[in-house]
Amino acid sequence: MREQLEAIRNRAMAQLGDDASAEQIENVRVAVLGRGGELTAIMRGMREVPAEERPAIGQLVNEIKRELESRIEALQERQQRARMERALAEQRLDVTLPGTRIGRGRSHPLTQVAEEMIGLFEAMGFEAVATQDIDDDFHNFSALNFPPDHPAREMQDTFFLPGGLLLRTHTSNGQIHVMQRRQPPLAVICPGNCYRRDELSVRASPMFSQIEGFMVDRTGIVTMAHLKGVLSEFLRGLFGAATRVRFRASFFPFTEPSAEVDISCVLCGGGGCRVCKHSGWVEILGSGMIHPNVLRAVGYDPAEYQGFAFGVGIERTALLKLGVDDMRLFFENDLRFLEQF
Ligand SMILES: [Zn+2]
Repeated sequence: MREQLEAIRNRAMAQLGDDASAEQIENVRVAVLGRGGELTAIMRGMREVPAEERPAIGQLVNEIKRELESRIEALQERQQRARMERALAEQRLDVTLPGTRIGRGRSHPLTQVAEEMIGLFEAMGFEAVATQDIDDDFHNFSALNFPPDHPAREMQDTFFLPGGLLLRTHTSNGQIHVMQRRQPPLAVICPGNCYRRDELSVRASPMFSQIEGFMVDRTGIVTMAHLKGVLSEFLRGLFGAATRVRFRASFFPFTEPSAEVDISCVLCGGGGCRVCKHSGWVEILGSGMIHPNVLRAVGYDPAEYQGFAFGVGIERTALLKLGVDDMRLFFENDLRFLEQF
């Protein structure tokens, strides 16, 4: 019996070497110390051992049991420490290393210019109102005094949609919507996108943006002088106090009289260059006194009310303000271009 116990001890201790794996350790524990293990079996068979030998055998069993248990515990502790050290080494953080820099975003140059333009009008008391891109013939053409066969309808090359709808060709439809919903006095701007069947080119894009603006009040209160004042203030705010502003007689269906507005060339200051075709002036927007037919179309009495309206292209303004010579650059989303602004 004693020899048998010593053999169990020696074999188990040999299996519990320094390089024993966690699985090997567990196997030894179950085979020797477990409920169906060898030592347990010997304890159960104790009654067959002669009575005088029992205490010594029992003591030896307990001794082997303690020895194996403490060996297993020591090995497990050592393995756990090694695992911990490995994990710490792998996950080591150097808190003094610089972090990954996340680039700050910024507004697109067109957005920057649009916001500046809107801000200038808001500073003069205009309210910005969003209106719809998809509209009907009435709001985009008829109410703006385009007769059914007016060549401008073709000139503007409209995107027509099913159901008599279209993509607005200008933000002037906003003027009609707001005047239908509200009563004067009104000082409103309608910024938004417009669509025409143009190829994308240096000067044009099938989608572009405008700011429509208008001011309406009782007859005699809002005059052509106010139109000149508001637009001059806006253009000097945008291009600098030294900018000269010129009004030229023109024609639009929705205004009478109409005026195109030029500014002294932002590149050459009026001396003459390629951008201004050596005239010293560049065209910047269209404007005029709202046509009586437009007022009638929204239910205003032209004898009672009068006002002015204007439309200014955001891309064209941005080209001049930022000194960019190709509109396509605004739509290509090339960061090397965008990051310059
Ligand atoms: Zn010039």
